[in-house]
Amino acid sequence: MSDALMHNYGRQPVAFERGEGVWLWDTEGRRYLDALSGIAVCGLGHAHPAVARALCDQANTLIHTSNIYRIPLQEQLAERLCALSGMERAFFCNSGAEANEAAIKLSRLHGHARGIANPTVIVMEGSFHGRTMATLTATGNAKIQKGFEPLVSGFLRVPYGDLAAIEQHAGNPDVVAVLVEPITGEGGIRVPPAGYLQGIRELCDRHDWLMMLDEIQAGIGRTGRWFAYQHEGVLPDVLSLAKGLGNGVPIGASLARGKAASLFTPGSHGTTFGGNPLVCRAALAVLETMDKQDLPGKAAHMGEYLLAGFRQRLGNHAAVREIRGRGLMIGIELDRPCAELVGKALQAGLLINVTAERVIRLLPPLIISDTEADQLLDQLTELVQSYTATPA
Ligand SMILES: *Cc1c(COP(=O)(O)O)cnc(C)c1O
Repeated sequence: MSDALMHNYGRQPVAFERGEGVWLWDTEGRRYLDALSGIAVCGLGHAHPAVARALCDQANTLIHTSNIYRIPLQEQLAERLCALSGMERAFFCNSGAEANEAAIKLSRLHGHARGIANPTVIVMEGSFHGRTMATLTATGNAKIQKGFEPLVSGFLRVPYGDLAAIEQHAGNPDVVAVLVEPITGEGGIRVPPAGYLQGIRELCDRHDWLMMLDEIQAGIGRTGRWFAYQHEGVLPDVLSLAKGLGNGVPIGASLARGKAASLFTPGSHGTTFGGNPLVCRAALAVLETMDKQDLPGKAAHMGEYLLAGFRQRLGNHAAVREIRGRGLMIGIELDRPCAELVGKALQAGLLINVTAERVIRLLPPLIISDTEADQLLDQLTELVQSYTATPA
């Protein structure tokens, strides 16, 4: 491996050369079933023809102008996303962390508009929101923060899934917003109790806080609806999107509604690349393809199939603590650390991930077929069985 790269990643010893659908081929010509989709990015799978066509055509037409000018494709994408989500306005950026940065900046504007000098955002233990200074501060994981102190002020942390813990801060006049993942991604695919999001919505309404949802991993069809909050019949004030939106082309978005949609004014926020014609064209192709093929609906169906299949095969296994998830966002929690499983699966031609130390995380492309899902069920079951053959 070249030493010309900084050492900030622990990489698997493999390089992929091409892809098609759920499949990737490495430089030796070996084929792998990708049950991770580049961490919830390639929902349409690899080398999707609709995305490839859109990118080629747009690259031959116009890649970049500037947010100094109108960008019709950006306007189209904003309207499409608002129609799907029930939100009212969009700001486009280049990554998830930037989408959350925009959300945090909106919460501060909201606080200052209310005359609050030290606006504070309630965030969760075990959350992940990104690697910029503000978003790593919001993240509930000491490993991600270590070495980067001083952290940003204005955050207050409570346990995930615990509505009463949020309510305890109702009397704190500095609180201006709640930032939460509807299902945690990096935090181990934790699904909060039913009514959690509705409870947060009510608290936010009562106290004039912004309800800010981080759907960077859960959004864009992955959980079986376009957005995970749509399972709960609530609407956030601010919504962060990225990963699945461009199928691999870097694009993030912060959507807002109500007064949050009017907080940014000319000059208050911006980015050079964000929402350029190339990435917006790609995202429009992603949304159109997902809509035409009802991929959120397919994700719901395939998710139920995989969850049922894993529960049937591994549900009674002594080393398996819990099998959980929603749509194609699935976690299998073991009774022991299992990071080693990633390398073992790779050798077996299967790409998976392990997060929160002992949770196997599966985020397959939304286009996964029945036979591919069966292969995933069989291969992973065998890997888990042999890995846990001896007691922890
Ligand atoms: C990946 C992720 C982020 C950060 O996105 P980047 O594009 O890596 O900056 C933030 N929040 C959640 C929930 C994520 O899964």
